Amino acid sequence: MDYFSFNRFNHTINIHGSSSGLSARADAREAKTEVGQLKAETERLLIITEALWKILKEEHGYNDEKLLQHIQDIDLKDGKLDGRVAKQGGPKPCPECQRPISSRHFNCLYCGAELTKEPFER
Ligand SMILES: [Zn+2]
Repeated sequence: MDYFSFNRFNHTINIHGSSSGLSARADAREAKTEVGQLKAETERLLIITEALWKILKEEHGYNDEKLLQHIQDIDLKDGKLDGRVAKQGGPKPCPECQRPISSRHFNCLYCGAELTKEPFER
């Protein structure tokens, strides 16, 4: 490879190197923007939840102790007190035949029983 070819080769590497670097920076910027949006949405949900809880306490007589008990019960659905909801979407036993059925089905594949969805099922 002569000097001229080497420089052209080097130039090609630099162009590709910098273009993938730019792409990575753009991806990082986009991810940072999405994280910022998720934080803002989470903050808004926290404000709404707190406002609803305030209404329930002030106008319906619920108390923090009862709320904390329910939070713990929901947390413990998967057997672990870890501040996270139980992982959902896995197979559950059919209410009729008890065979495991994926929660994405509306009826049991074995006996045809109707499978009900829980309101917070994901
Ligand atoms: Zn069944």
